Amino acid sequence: WYTEKHTPNAGLTLRVTQTLLTATSPYQEMTIVETPDYGRVMLLDGLVMLTERDEFVYHEMLAHPSLYAHPNPEKVLIIGGGDGGTLREVVKHSAVKKAVLVEIDKMVIAASKEFFPHVASGFNSSKAEVIVTDGIRYVQETEERFDVILIDSTDPVGPAEGLFHIDFYRACRNILKEDGILTTQSETPFIKHFADVIPRVIKDLNSLFPVSKLYLASIPTYPSGLWSFSMGSMKYNPTENFQQERYAGDALKLSYYNDQIHQGAFCLPTFVQKLIEK
Ligand code: SAM
Repeated sequence: WYTEKHTPNAGLTLRVTQTLLTATSPYQEMTIVETPDYGRVMLLDGLVMLTERDEFVYHEMLAHPSLYAHPNPEKVLIIGGGDGGTLREVVKHSAVKKAVLVEIDKMVIAASKEFFPHVASGFNSSKAEVIVTDGIRYVQETEERFDVILIDSTDPVGPAEGLFHIDFYRACRNILKEDGILTTQSETPFIKHFADVIPRVIKDLNSLFPVSKLYLASIPTYPSGLWSFSMGSMKYNPTENFQQERYAGDALKLSYYNDQIHQGAFCLPTFVQKLIEK
């Protein structure tokens, strides 16, 4: 059995039938295990990054709300996301001409290609460009400009700490086109030490973007099962600007996101509203 503790008193426990990989990079420790209920699971520093069973929720919900709020998302930047799941969702859009993925750790990319080929399938797209470097440095130095930036990071510790900082969001805004959208995963609103991230991220995005929104999705293997994403938008309100004509319904082969979820995900429970009103 493997237990990821989410607090000193609660966690997620999975029965492990096989350990497929243990490896260490300069950035983190990786373990890949086989489990009966959730299939293969990727852990970084002991924390669940993805499971075969529920990865679709996170990857669809990080990618599609922004891509269907923007009228013409031709160029997309993904920071982190070395497993390739977000990239897989992004390249499904015919509007997307180029998707640049900037991941700090090449070990994650290699392991995902070997052990999670379905998740890593986006790497095979001719639209994909993969750069192995620190995302913070990339956004400061690049000359490229993007319609949408998606921040697919680990928790705000270690190499990902700076990916939750206002200076990083400002640098991202500077490489967005004038009507661009930035969305980042922003942890769970349900567990105290994670929930402290949300008001800070929303406050920072609110100070940098004319539109800032929080939305939610249910991800069973992430702490508490309730996950948040934060969006900063230069122009478009994601619910008012939903691109109904471009929405392809079943054609994108999605299992969580749809046009109703696009609207509903932005409706927040009262305790989450209060969290961001802080
Ligand atoms: N869905 C996941 C979650 O929230 O549990 C995140 C998955 S993805 C594997 C996160 C990736 O962000 C990792 O591969 C990690 O190496 C990468 N990462 C962390 N800090 C980074 C940085 N500064 N620049 C680029 N990538 C970074």
